[in-house]
Amino acid sequence: MDSIYNLMASMDFPKMILFSTAMHINRVKSPDKVLDEVFMDLVLRFDAFLRRQHARNIPNKGLLIIDKAHEEKYRTLLASFQQGGTKYGQIRNVIDVPYFGQGEHTRMLQLADFCAHAVFRYYNNEDFTLLKKILPNFDRQTRTSPPDGLKHFINSFYDCQACSWCNERRT
Ligand SMILES: [Zn+2]
Repeated sequence: MDSIYNLMASMDFPKMILFSTAMHINRVKSPDKVLDEVFMDLVLRFDAFLRRQHARNIPNKGLLIIDKAHEEKYRTLLASFQQGGTKYGQIRNVIDVPYFGQGEHTRMLQLADFCAHAVFRYYNNEDFTLLKKILPNFDRQTRTSPPDGLKHFINSFYDCQACSWCNERRT
């Protein structure tokens, strides 16, 4: 695992840019809505990154690669985003048809799992060891800017790597 995280850490912008959204149990309104909310947030963060690149004259569309094992669930979610937009607005730069790949055949999906594991260990076990290595790879406007690519939904203030940058602290 160490070699994977070291490899990820060695991939400078823009070779690999990470995004993660975590939701604390106290923000969960209904358990079956958690996936909708964190997935929508993740897509919007990806879209915001693409818009920023667009403004820097690097126009690209983004492709979502999703684990085939969850194809049906995500198809339904994406269809509902496209019909009504999201509650934060329209998704403009993410291609509306995702690619569903099998984890064992798609290396980027495996790296996404490592990213998710590091974030999970950080929030669930207060273990910053893994996330610390790859935190610089999270999307941000400049090297010294806050990690826009890391979002933590929580009702109380929590001094984490995401919330400590946030101006709109919830109390
Ligand atoms: Zn936080």
